[in-house]
Amino acid sequence: MAEYLTKLFIDGSWQDAISGETFAVINPADGSELVRIADANAEDMLKAIDSAQKAQAGWAATPALERSRILRKAAEIARADIDRLAHVLTMEQGKPLAQALGEITYGLDFIEWFAEEARRTYGTTVPSTGPDKRIVAIKQATGVSVAITPWNFPALQILRKLGAALAAGCAMIVKPAALTPLSALEIGKYFAEAGLPDGVLQVVTSSRASRVSEAIMSDSRVRVVSFTGSTEVGKVLMREGSTTMKRLALELGGHAPFIVFEDADLDHALEQLISVKMRNMGQTCVSANRIFVQRSIAEEFTRRVVERLSSMKVGFGTESDVEVGPLINAGAVDKVESHVADAIANGATVAAGGKRPSGAALANGHFYEPTVLTGVTDEMIIARDETFGPVAPIFEFDTEEEVIERANNSPFGLAAYFFTRDVNRLVRVSEALEYGTVGANDGSISAVQAPFGGVKESGIGREGGHWGMDDYMDIKYISLAGLTRP
Ligand code: NAP
Repeated sequence: MAEYLTKLFIDGSWQDAISGETFAVINPADGSELVRIADANAEDMLKAIDSAQKAQAGWAATPALERSRILRKAAEIARADIDRLAHVLTMEQGKPLAQALGEITYGLDFIEWFAEEARRTYGTTVPSTGPDKRIVAIKQATGVSVAITPWNFPALQILRKLGAALAAGCAMIVKPAALTPLSALEIGKYFAEAGLPDGVLQVVTSSRASRVSEAIMSDSRVRVVSFTGSTEVGKVLMREGSTTMKRLALELGGHAPFIVFEDADLDHALEQLISVKMRNMGQTCVSANRIFVQRSIAEEFTRRVVERLSSMKVGFGTESDVEVGPLINAGAVDKVESHVADAIANGATVAAGGKRPSGAALANGHFYEPTVLTGVTDEMIIARDETFGPVAPIFEFDTEEEVIERANNSPFGLAAYFFTRDVNRLVRVSEALEYGTVGANDGSISAVQAPFGGVKESGIGREGGHWGMDDYMDIKYISLAGLTRP
């Protein structure tokens, strides 16, 4: 059995919660308890903020080249241990091992990307208004930052924030999701081993999110909160953060349209759909949730989607041929079931799946079969709310104008995808979709060098690329006056 880290990582040491309390981490594949870990409360979080504040000035003053070196070293240590970390991730989250490896690799790519960006946080000089003046803009670390992260990508969501924060010179406290805290603790260990000074990274696990978050949001020493999770909690943080005017970076919910025009390369569109729909059992913010297929090709395309999804193997993520693991918990399966039931009650047809798998082997886990629904309409719940499960609802459409209007008719604006061979339509539709990220003939939008993020109720800010540093740096304008020449 794997060994798990169980304590809070505060001020460079592994500590029990002040209360001595613990909470259980559950394996979603069979409902068993993996381990009990420290359960922080507001006092533990305050201790972490004290320590981060103490470390902040020294880290910001550390030369960028040295910060960069430590980031690269941590990535190197993690890569050497990647198989074990992937196993921990699969045990706590459920996704197939190959996907866990992919997630960690991608997350570590962010650490390396930001290790390079740390060296390029250039300032600017601007022509001034007189010979005795100079206008200089420099970038400085904003201050103590906190990452609050979700359970669907327990390593990636942390690594992407951490790379940017540390590269910018900000200390960071990580509050991982209570359902998947084990990968976060491992990440803390790698950075400690890489020589990161005490207090610059701390990992505070807790089952009392709102209480520790109140301590964060009301503390004026915390200058940046980077949150990935639901729009609902994002709005709470926005309200709470207003009292101390925190900078908020919010990566929130999505409800991605995936549009297939009749002139698309259907083989390619199908491959991209399977990958973007089924990654992490459909539990991603960029999952294809509304699959719009032009009427003339709908029957053929649906037949191929059914064929592919029906052949995917469901089971324990630790088995090498499994493609679809369990959902995160019973509530997640209930939500999927309720969306499917509502769709059926309102006229949709189940073309594949539509139920929990039978058989004793999977009976204690939170499994749901890959499912295809046809005849789905915009009035059904599944058309409005994130399902966060392995369900592919197929909507039919007639014209480009109609599908753009339907795709944009959502409070969310994170990711959208469309497929066509028409070059003019590629440009037109890319520009018309009200989304922060658009895959034009592409379902593989993940790239460390790209600015990922949403518009509307999907969030504020961009993660990745050089833009990813902006949330953690202030621009200071220095007006230098009174300069004289000899
Ligand atoms: P969630 O319930 O909003 O939780 C996210 C994080 O916030 C967790 O650490 C959670 O702690 C914490 N939290 C919960 N209630 C809180 C409160 N009142 N105050 C402060 N923190 C609180 O979201 P989730 O269910 O974990 O994740 C799924 C959602 O994340 C989906 O909507 C998905 O679309 C979105 N998401 C967005 C992106 C993106 O990049 N835009 C990426 C992935 C996921 P606990 O775990 O202890 O509850």
